[in-house]
Order: sequence, then C-alpha cells, then structure tokens
Amino acid sequence: MFSLMANCCSWFKRWREPVRKVTLVMVGLDNAGKTATAKGIQGEHPEDVAPTVGFSKIDLRQGKFEVTIFDLGGGKRIRGIWKNYYAESYGVIFVVDSSDEERMEETKETMSEVLRHPRISGKPILVLANKQDKEGALGEADVIECLSLEKLVNEHKCLCQIEPCSAVLGYGKKIDKSIKKGLYWLLHIIAKDFDALNERIQKDTTEQRALEEQEKRERAERVQKLREEREQREREKAELDGSGDLAEMDPEPVLVNPFQPIASVIIENEKKLEKEKKKQTMVKDRDSSDCHLKHKMEHEQIESKSQIGDNIHKNTESEIIENYKEAIIQRLENEDEIDQQSSESDTSKKKTKKLRMKRNHRVEPVNTDDSAPKSPAPLPPPPPVGWGTPKVTRLPKLEPLGETRHNDFYGKPLPPLAVRQRPNSEAHDVIS
Ligand code: GDP
Repeated sequence: MFSLMANCCSWFKRWREPVRKVTLVMVGLDNAGKTATAKGIQGEHPEDVAPTVGFSKIDLRQGKFEVTIFDLGGGKRIRGIWKNYYAESYGVIFVVDSSDEERMEETKETMSEVLRHPRISGKPILVLANKQDKEGALGEADVIECLSLEKLVNEHKCLCQIEPCSAVLGYGKKIDKSIKKGLYWLLHIIAKDFDALNERIQKDTTEQRALEEQEKRERAERVQKLREEREQREREKAELDGSGDLAEMDPEPVLVNPFQPIASVIIENEKKLEKEKKKQTMVKDRDSSDCHLKHKMEHEQIESKSQIGDNIHKNTESEIIENYKEAIIQRLENEDEIDQQSSESDTSKKKTKKLRMKRNHRVEPVNTDDSAPKSPAPLPPPPPVGWGTPKVTRLPKLEPLGETRHNDFYGKPLPPLAVRQRPNSEAHDVIS
C-alpha cells in the first residue's frame, strides 16, 4: 500500500513536470554514421541519407523532452563550427565508426578537443560505437581503449556512456535498441541535473551572444578601418598623379537615395525618352525643310533652264520648217515652168499636177558636165526635232528642169526630154 502510494506520487510529480526543451549536439568524424543515426531516431530510413554539408537539425519528442539535435558535419574543415553550438548544448552524442581502425587516433584527438572545450567540460557524453554490423568492427572495450575514453572523461569531468550499435539496422520504433538506450541514458542524466545544467546553459548562451556581438562589432570596425585606409591611399595616389586639384574642384556629390520606388523610376525614364524623341523630331524637321528648300531651288533652276532651252529649240525648229517649206515651193515653181515649156500640147493644170507628183519618183542621170546648169539638189531630209538640231541655211535656188542638158556616157549632149502620152490615159509620161 505504501509503495503504491509512492508510485502514484512520483507519477503525479512527473505528470506535473513542465516540458523541457533540450538541445543536443551530435559530432564525430565524417562517415561515422551521424546522419544515419539522426534519421533513424527521427523515424526515416537511415540509408536514404545525403552527406551533411554544414549541419542539419532534427526535432523529436521524447517523454517530457522536446529534443533538438544538431547533426554537425564532420569534415576537417568544418569542425571549427562545432564550438558555436556548445553553449546551448545540454549534452553530446559522439559517433564513432568502429569499423575504421585507421582513423581511431584522429577520432581520439577530435574527442579530446571537444571534451576539453570549456562549454562542454562537465556535460554528459554518449559515445555510439557505430557500424557494429560490419565485419571486424571494434567492440566496446577496444573502442574505450583506442580512445583512452576513461582518462578523457575523467579529465574533463564528463559523465559518459558507450553504446555499441548499428544505425542501419532499423529506424523509428525499430531503431537499434542500443541507440534508444543511450538516448534515454543521456536525457535521464540531463533531467537529473537539469536545473544546474540549464543555469549554465543560459549563462553560456548569454556570454556567447555577447561575444558574438562583440566579434561582429570588431569585424565591422576592421572593415571600416580598412575602407578608410584604402580611401586615404587612393586620395594620396590621386594627389601624386596631379588629379588632387581636380578632385577639389569637383562639386559636392549629390546624395540620392539609391532605393527609389520602381514606379517613379519608370516614369522618369519615360519622360527622358519623350524629351529625347522630341529633340530628334525637331532636328529631323529642320533638316528636311532645309533639304526641301534646296530641292525646290534646284528644281526652279532646272525649270528656268529648260524653258530657255525650249524657246531656243522652238525658234530653231520653226526656222527650219520655214526654210524647208520655202525650198519645196521654189522647186515646185521651177518644175511648173519646165512643164509649161516642154509640153507641146495644152494640158490642164490638173494633169500637170499629176505629172508633178509622179516626177517625184523618177531617177535622175548623173550630170558630169560642169558647164551645164546644175541639177536641182535633192530635197533635204525632214528636219530632226529636238536638242542639238543644226541650223539649216537657206537652200540654193533650184534651176528649171527644161533647160537641163544631160550628157551621155561619152560626154555627148543628150536630146531634151520628151513627153509621151500613154495609150490608155490622157496623162503624159516622161522618158528620160
Ligand atoms: P556522417 O558523415 O557521419 O553523417 O555519416 P553518414 O550517416 O552519412 O553515413 C556514412 C555511410 O555509412 C553511409 O553510407 C551509411 O549508409 C553508412 N552507415 C552509417 N551507419 C552505418 C552502420 O551502422 N552500418 C553500416 N554498415 N553502414 C553504416
């Protein structure tokens, strides 16, 4: 009855306990099996893991504990970040690859470095001797020996538990019992000394934050100092180059907020574009009007020139036509005279006209006699029309045909032309 009442009291006490937030840090060399272990605890398949770059964080609920585990990358280069998580850690999970004997010394050094750290010393540490499923993996005692674990934990006053396990055997509820056991042990130790640990963690965290703030300020000061030094060097260099005077002459730079609202920037740009367009249009108009004026003047000049040319051309043409008409009239008059003299019979003016028309088609013999009157020159070709027509001079007066004396082949004078009447017509024909 007494024990029953005691159990009820302890259950009631635990039930009344507030939820405790606990942060744990999981460290160890790369490839030890940290992520596989963390995933297994979380309930995910431990073989679907990608190598941890930096760190990953998992949250789980374990009894009255809300546990956060920081799974930190174990590569040599990133081990330096581990210390940033020590202040807020209530305990440490150190994962060892028990199958990798060659790296035991490195593991030992790393563990020593962790436990030596002032923000870790005195805190509980769970060592998981992982990969026990692998052939040739070191057992619990061998791992303790290789790492000089007893000596280490005693030196740094760390409560320690070692669990030989295998992270890939199962996950979630089927996770390796050794991992589960080790986790329970760790949380139990933390819970036992929670208040003291919590106080230390609050203090360490505050200090760490202050330290981080301090480092931040110092970094900013360093950057500012470097910038000032660089500017000073640039100024000195500019003075040496002789551009110092120019720099002094430069007006004060206008301070404009570079972060303008995008809408106002767009509107300003559009205004600028419109102004430029207007300018371009004005220049174009001026150019085109100038060009138009020039063309107009040229056109007028050409027109005036062509008018003058036309007048000259018209004058020349009319003159030529006039001359041509006169020559024809003259020749016809001469022919009429010849007709009148050579025809013995009286013929009407109509018949003469017909004869005159036919004579136009006759062939004249070549006149070689210089003394003989000159044969009438052939009619000039019709005057060409257009520019460059040569000025035609008045044609020589034509001689009457009747008086023409033709010579034969031997130079004897030929008889005068006779007119023969056609048998079926009243018209006369000319036989040369
Ligand atoms: P981490 O670098 O410490 O995070 O190591 P990982 O969790 O990424 O594991 C490295 C490799 O070891 C992976 O291929 C895992 O599948 C494998 N591994 C992890 N734990 C075990 C284990 O207990 N047994 C075996 N055989 N392989 C494991």
